[in-house]
Amino acid sequence: MNNQSPLDVNGRVYQVPKVPAIAICLDGCEPAYLDAAIGDGLMPTLKRMRESGSDRLAHSVIPSFTNPNNLSIATGRPPIIHGICGNFLFDRDTGEEVMMNDVRFLRAPTIFSKFYEAGARVAIVTAKDKLRALLGAELRFDEDRAKCFSAEKSDTSTLAEHGQEAASKWLDMVQPEVYSAELSEFVFAAGVKLLAEWKPDIMYLTTTDYVQHKYAPDDGEAKSFYEMFDKYLAQLDEMGAAIVVTADHGMKPKHLEDGSPAVIYVQDLMDEWLDKGAARVILPITDPYVVHHGALGSFATVYLPESANRDEIIAKLLAIDGITHAMSREEAIERFELPGDRIGEIVMVSGENICIGTSKDRHDLAALKEPLRSHGGITEQTVPFIVNRAIDLPNQPVLRNFDAFFYVMTAAAL
Ligand SMILES: [Zn+2]
Repeated sequence: MNNQSPLDVNGRVYQVPKVPAIAICLDGCEPAYLDAAIGDGLMPTLKRMRESGSDRLAHSVIPSFTNPNNLSIATGRPPIIHGICGNFLFDRDTGEEVMMNDVRFLRAPTIFSKFYEAGARVAIVTAKDKLRALLGAELRFDEDRAKCFSAEKSDTSTLAEHGQEAASKWLDMVQPEVYSAELSEFVFAAGVKLLAEWKPDIMYLTTTDYVQHKYAPDDGEAKSFYEMFDKYLAQLDEMGAAIVVTADHGMKPKHLEDGSPAVIYVQDLMDEWLDKGAARVILPITDPYVVHHGALGSFATVYLPESANRDEIIAKLLAIDGITHAMSREEAIERFELPGDRIGEIVMVSGENICIGTSKDRHDLAALKEPLRSHGGITEQTVPFIVNRAIDLPNQPVLRNFDAFFYVMTAAAL
């Protein structure tokens, strides 16, 4: 990427990197995980980055879910610009919940596609395949300048569709189970190999929060995960790349003392307050991979029938212990920068130790083996933001996780 002038993407101007610019999104990385692992001496590289580079906290977008934040990082903008505000939207005309994983729902170009157009080499590796198509939007794989594949489907990746034939074979790792720490390890290992052999200008590595949903920061399994990550981080750092480590969202315990999930079932409440089924509660965390969180998070949006008195319902919701925020669509657009046509009339958020469900009988909690840990609310909005170079950086709440590429490109252009 020589002799290029800075590039405008979605109204922000990005420096052209002189060394590879890498953003790593550690899914569900509540800052306490890093403190615990560093405290035990398990992350020497990240500890050094914190001391000699730039160490801040940043805010994620709300809902503090995976896809809205990954697409914000990929576009450098909040959901009101790129359109992806959850895994699901409700189509009022058909009465159906529609998956928002498809590229047609994306309303803004990614930083990746704009840099690709300008001649950059771009690599994206995701843990779960659900993000791959969105992150790889508009990339072309016929010039050996783009790679975008997932660990989850690494056996079947192709040169034509992902820029990499049989990624698992190429990496010499078996395709991991979807619910595993190895799914994320695959991402890091692929990043190291790509940086060493393929030399991307820009690389995005994004993991899965399987470990974080199950284990608290002080649990051995969580610490081993971050120890494993640090070894790969050391290799990326040694090769001279500019690196930012951030997260899509944090993670909090959401269970009662006996270990059972702490849940407010809002569809049941709506059915009680209005006619049964008259309102529709949408949990945008819902996706095909619910085993580790039972589709329970701290954010919901409610579609009301025309006859409903919205202010009255908002007041009733706010009176419930554990509901910290309930607001109108208009307020949510303003406050959380959400696309108004993809949320209901009410947006609500629950507190640190409690989550929101639809109807009690719609959540299969049998698969939850450990006490529930989840995210989606404002209490899971604070995430790490660590750069391996000393640069000028604001702190939270001004600093956002979706500033990752802006600052890593700045660092890579020094
Ligand atoms: Zn996530």
